[in-house]
Amino acid sequence: MNGAGYRGRFAPSPTGPLHAGSLLAALGSWLRARRAGGQWRVRIEDLDPPREVPGAAQVQLATLAAFGLHPDGAVIRQSRRSARYQAALERLLDAGLAFECHCSRADLAATGGIHRACVARARRPDPAIRLRVADGCTVAFEDAVHGRIEQRVDLAVGDFVLRRADGLWAYQLAVVVDDAAQGITEVVRGADLLDSTPRQILLQRALGLPTPRYLHLPLLVGADGRKLSKSEGALAVDPARPLPLLRALWAALGQAPLPAVRLEAWLAAAPAAFRAEAIPRGPVPASAALHNTDATGAP
Ligand code: GLU
Repeated sequence: MNGAGYRGRFAPSPTGPLHAGSLLAALGSWLRARRAGGQWRVRIEDLDPPREVPGAAQVQLATLAAFGLHPDGAVIRQSRRSARYQAALERLLDAGLAFECHCSRADLAATGGIHRACVARARRPDPAIRLRVADGCTVAFEDAVHGRIEQRVDLAVGDFVLRRADGLWAYQLAVVVDDAAQGITEVVRGADLLDSTPRQILLQRALGLPTPRYLHLPLLVGADGRKLSKSEGALAVDPARPLPLLRALWAALGQAPLPAVRLEAWLAAAPAAFRAEAIPRGPVPASAALHNTDATGAP
């Protein structure tokens, strides 16, 4: 860990209130940053208006505050940063690393949606822009929890979208531009994004940007073994009683219980006690995490 030079972030999409799974990412990234004596940034990833719920970002920020997770610096919103994404896209197009693509979903059905060559039957007025992924392209990285991860990007995802045909920016481009612009040194987030990381590293290389370190947290899963969804009440997020959920998430991160019985004391003690080595590779059943909490109910 590199002390005051450390910068982490939490980057929620404002598609609804924070659920236990997203709070796990918030807590994990906050713990890692505070433990390192570094900064913790919050970025609202509001790039997909059809999926967004009006007012959700404000509710998410209020929930973080109720849980005592306070960001350093201004909260940024991706919806106001199109010019940066456009500039990055133009660099990639100018360098011949990205290309216009007229293929529709139906055109790519035969290859399971993976694009290796343009097979469009018709030109579209609104082509997507994709990053060219070379044959045999392999990206490997060392995850702090999962160890070495390697992906054949050409086979797993193919030439991937940077700007969608509907004009919206793809998450992969925006996240890379913003992690670099915010000087993020380590990305801590849920393991559902492990397989996005090789694409992000490819883009960092194509844009001449540094690659941060990565730590992917275990996913909380419901009784059916699937990623905890917003509708599941197994670990309800009650901003009026943050401590029971913080204790549950702490247990889900494989950490030994802390004695503190009040929120401020718990938050003050947690970073120093936090051991990244104990984080399970997961998935972690949400119900087990809940049963690990004590029932003091202290706020
Ligand atoms: N916005 C993404 C989400 O809410 C997280 C992206 C990231 O942490 O890289 O799932």
